[in-house]
Amino acid sequence: MRIGIYPGSFDPLTNGHLDIIERAKQICDRLIIAIAKNSAKQPLFTVQERLEMLERCCHCEGSSVETVAFEGLLVDFCRAQGVSLIFRGLRAIVDFEYEYAIALMNKKLAPGIETVFLMAQSEYSFVSSNMVKEVASYGGDITSLVPQFVNEMLQHRFSGRK
Ligand code: ADP
Repeated sequence: MRIGIYPGSFDPLTNGHLDIIERAKQICDRLIIAIAKNSAKQPLFTVQERLEMLERCCHCEGSSVETVAFEGLLVDFCRAQGVSLIFRGLRAIVDFEYEYAIALMNKKLAPGIETVFLMAQSEYSFVSSNMVKEVASYGGDITSLVPQFVNEMLQHRFSGRK
């Protein structure tokens, strides 16, 4: 059984992430979507809120997808779960350098685990969680870029700040 993982911050989940999830699902038998707990980043949404976003979008009866949060080295988590494929999305050249360095380091640490890059769809290639948060914080329309309930969570989060 080929087990894949799609790690990220998902702060918040966007339609770009969902597109990668749909495509990654086709390439493995089981897909783990993993929220990396990163103490260096100050997230807008808690791990629990982000798990809820993923669960609402990705869980259905008999689904081969599961959602988790993890701490520590990704490759250690992969080994513990029997993961052989790490999925990452690439939007533009600017993503490449960063993603390439991480992929090389992970290969060094765990030669048996392969990183698979999926190119972002053109309609989402400009979409990032940071951009979505920034636009939403100023009341901009992001309805076509995130699931509806994520939009509502963003509106709710920012409504208290105005
Ligand atoms: P991280 O903090 O690990 O970069 P993100 O949630 O920002 O977490 O992104 C997780 C992965 O999803 C990364 O590989 C990123 O390049 C990819 N990604 C983010 N947004 C998009 C998008 N719009 N289209 C395709 N891939 C994306």
